[in-house]
Amino acid sequence: MKRDGQLESIWRSEVKKHYGQENFAPGAQFDVVVAGAGITGITSALLLQKKGMKCILVEATNMGFGTSGDTTAHVNSFFDIPYYQVIRDFGLDSAKLLAQAANEAHHIIKDQINLYQIYCDYSIRNGYLFALDEEQDKEFQKIIEGNQKVGIETFETAANPFGIPSVRVVEIPNQAQFHPLKYLRILLKEFINSGGTYVENCQVTSVKKENDKLVSITKKGNIVSNHLIYATHIPPGRNIMHFRNTAYRSYVMACKLKNGNYPEALGYDLSKPYHYYRSHALDVEQFIVAGGEDHKADNVDHTSESFERLGNYLRQHFDIEEISYKWSSQFYESADGLPYIGQLPGSPDHVYCATGYNGDGMILGTLAAKILSDIISAGSSIYEKLFLPSRVKPVAEMDNIVDS
Ligand SMILES: Cc1cc2nc3c(=O)[nH]c(=O)nc-3n(C[C@H](O)[C@H](O)[C@H](O)COP(=O)(O)OP(=O)(O)OC[C@H]3O[C@@H](n4cnc5c(N)ncnc54)[C@H](O)[C@@H]3O)c2cc1C
Repeated sequence: MKRDGQLESIWRSEVKKHYGQENFAPGAQFDVVVAGAGITGITSALLLQKKGMKCILVEATNMGFGTSGDTTAHVNSFFDIPYYQVIRDFGLDSAKLLAQAANEAHHIIKDQINLYQIYCDYSIRNGYLFALDEEQDKEFQKIIEGNQKVGIETFETAANPFGIPSVRVVEIPNQAQFHPLKYLRILLKEFINSGGTYVENCQVTSVKKENDKLVSITKKGNIVSNHLIYATHIPPGRNIMHFRNTAYRSYVMACKLKNGNYPEALGYDLSKPYHYYRSHALDVEQFIVAGGEDHKADNVDHTSESFERLGNYLRQHFDIEEISYKWSSQFYESADGLPYIGQLPGSPDHVYCATGYNGDGMILGTLAAKILSDIISAGSSIYEKLFLPSRVKPVAEMDNIVDS
């Protein structure tokens, strides 16, 4: 079937169903309000509901409307900020804790898939990083050494499975990929089946403290709770997170190839911004899903030129028969490279945020759900200090500002 660059993500073409109830009961009180039904919000709501808390998940539009419906859903134990930089800026112990956190989040994804028997095309894949030229190669040694220091297996290997000419290639085993909306759809169903309340078209506009409770103001009325999680990719309204994060836009294409060569691998070059690659089968049809051409999100429309550049770049390296889908979406880069997960500075106590994931939200969104659900249900998390939203790390921040 000729689709000719349909402007939606490959995942949305398969999963369109809406969920939820029209409204919540007037005056109903909850332990936790979770705003936003992407990977962060749905996972948080499910983990908390399963711990016996009474939760309501409210979504401004519909499930997966945000970046979780536009992601490329690589599941990585390494991040856009390389471990050598985390070691330099936060210390070796923090970098090891980050690697441990990534491992734990990946286990949560795997456990949910097994427990709820989720058919979401999950598969373990090797990741390949490749330097396209001598300049990119200079950073490689540092990346390899950083990975090794935190215990991420990283091997030099001869060939780039995507066939892109490279001066050096390394393999990082035990990465993964999945279909994000198939995964989230079932987590959401589990949340509802466990007694959770889910309401769509219900935007939280603000929150205030009243008689020791939080009152979330929404388009469908007020909700009273003990805790509020802004799982909205970046917390809404005026808050410091908008100064500590920079919004970027990234572009993706799903292509059919004439030669039928769809490597079962995840790939990343070291360009700045970098390109990322994977393959995916929808029923019997195979696709290469490739992204890049990231730029700061501003008020100028870069859409057609960015897609044109990405298409031209991909045509240089792949035998493209058809660009079947193309889409773009936003992500947020934190000032020091690590996400902000925890109490939102400047808000009443028990209002939490989870943002600054860069291009690593599958692992970090799952991790945020784990951290926030532990803080809310048990009072603390072993990871909370590392990702504290109120932290100040001047050295690292200066570096990222200069790089951007
Ligand atoms: C093109 C692209 C490719 C990417 N590829 C990868 C990848 O391969 N691997 C990876 O790990 N990460 C990747 N990322 C990053 C990852 O997709 C995101 O970090 C992640 O999806 C963010 O999830 P989230 O749940 O926090 O936010 P979202 O998925 O954006 O969900 C937030 C939800 O909140 C809702 N909302 C907003 N405001 C309100 C409000 N006031 N009240 C109620 N609801 C509200 C929105 O409608 C939305 O549904 C990619 C990002 C982009 C842009």
